[in-house]
Amino acid sequence: MNITDKLLNILSQQQVIFGDALKDNYYHIWKMDEPLNALAMVFPKTTEEISRILELCNNHKQAVIVFGGRTNLVGSTETMGNEILISMEKMNQIIELDQSSRTMTVEAGVLLETIQNKASENDFLFPLNFGAKGSAQIGGIISTNAGGLRVLKYGMTRNPDGTILSSLKKIIKDNSAYDLKQLFVGSEGTLGVVTKAVLKLRETPTSRNSAFIGINTFDNVVAFLKYIDKKLAGLLSGYELIWADTYAQMTNDETGSKPPLEPKYKYYVLVESLGSQQEKERNNLIDIIEQALEKKLVEDAVVAYTKSDLDWFWKLREDVHVIASSCTYDQHFDISLPIPTIGTVLDDININLRQLDGVNHSYTFGHIADGNIHIIVDKDSDDELLKNKINDIVYSPLQALGGSVSAEHGIGLHKKPYLHLCRTEAEIFLMKKLKRTLDPNNILNPNKVIDINE
Ligand SMILES: Cc1cc2nc3c(=O)[nH]c(=O)nc-3n(C[C@H](O)[C@H](O)[C@H](O)COP(=O)(O)OP(=O)(O)OC[C@H]3O[C@@H](n4cnc5c(N)ncnc54)[C@H](O)[C@@H]3O)c2cc1C
Repeated sequence: MNITDKLLNILSQQQVIFGDALKDNYYHIWKMDEPLNALAMVFPKTTEEISRILELCNNHKQAVIVFGGRTNLVGSTETMGNEILISMEKMNQIIELDQSSRTMTVEAGVLLETIQNKASENDFLFPLNFGAKGSAQIGGIISTNAGGLRVLKYGMTRNPDGTILSSLKKIIKDNSAYDLKQLFVGSEGTLGVVTKAVLKLRETPTSRNSAFIGINTFDNVVAFLKYIDKKLAGLLSGYELIWADTYAQMTNDETGSKPPLEPKYKYYVLVESLGSQQEKERNNLIDIIEQALEKKLVEDAVVAYTKSDLDWFWKLREDVHVIASSCTYDQHFDISLPIPTIGTVLDDININLRQLDGVNHSYTFGHIADGNIHIIVDKDSDDELLKNKINDIVYSPLQALGGSVSAEHGIGLHKKPYLHLCRTEAEIFLMKKLKRTLDPNNILNPNKVIDINE
């Protein structure tokens, strides 16, 4: 009996597809036209079914990849053809929303957008937010420890032999020995399968204010962050930075938004405060910015007065596809650095990139309060050699400065060769030891993140 037949002892026929049926499926939301190459794909409905699938695969030393929403940006759901794929899409139930504990208990396949809507219907906020919210599942989000636009205020996401490990608890404080669930956060499906999660909900802020600020030196970008965070006394929820030429591209006449400020400063900062008194807080924000203008900390500013101003400012920042679609070929980066070093390091990176044959331009923006910078490189071709030269330019300054090759998106397949730049030999050794302990047959997403055989 081969393994697909054995899977049918655990699951119904509708829950297992293989052969031609796989052609209608895909390994990434941006590759829906490419046929899926794998042994089989299974659609479990319970934790127990997943446990039995993993037990079977472990006994057969059979590679498996967990499929969430398939929105990751690092190749972590790419297949080689010999894997069993575990789709989490049938585990899509919201189990409970507990008003008093302010928690939501969900199965791993629930979409981020569904969670946000459910929280909002119950007058709560689930603050995690990013562009792929309509496809990304909470299990995938936990497994990549995703961030997004309000990490500054609310933080990142931070829970195979078939053992079921349950740490599903609503309590906030728990110092009873090792916090095992944290091992699985950000592990990209290499240590286990997340089947359920208890999510912490927040009270919904009732006011939202924003301003666009023009600043001419990076030192003042850093000084203004400290200044405004202190003055807003806990309300600062966003501090997004856009470099001048990126701002010019985001606000160009053809595809971009209307520019809130003239395109003549070196940096543009978009600040956001969330609180409870709309008008009072807007006036306070105006006072704070006026004082910053007097001190020459910032050069210019415009404050949002209406909901449509707010939508306009944030659409400008979030419409990153305006840049990507202007590129002949695009290559994306998601690095992090100590905040004060960012100005000079990015100046050097951009100079080196733009001197490289085959590169047309480089665009820079980021969640600067988290030290997280995104770079989009516009290049002439998808040539492998050019890609590696670009990678080298962007990644080479990081090690000496204690930066990271992945602030948010993870390592997957694409960043594996660069992991050693931000993790020490001792750390990687321990990661391999951990992987061997939890997955001795190396069946879970085997060639992603780290290679235990090297
Ligand atoms: C337009 C766009 C914008 C984005 N913006 C951001 C952003 O601002 N910030 C940010 O941090 N990220 C961002 N991302 C990337 C984001 O991290 C991932 O898209 C998301 O977290 C992955 O969720 P998913 O369900 O699609 O997982 P998948 O892509 O399906 O899987 C990702 C990894 O997790 C594993 N996995 C999936 N489900 C499980 C599970 N239940 N148990 C164990 N392992 C599992 C997979 O095997 C894989 O290794 C963006 C992506 C897109 C396409």
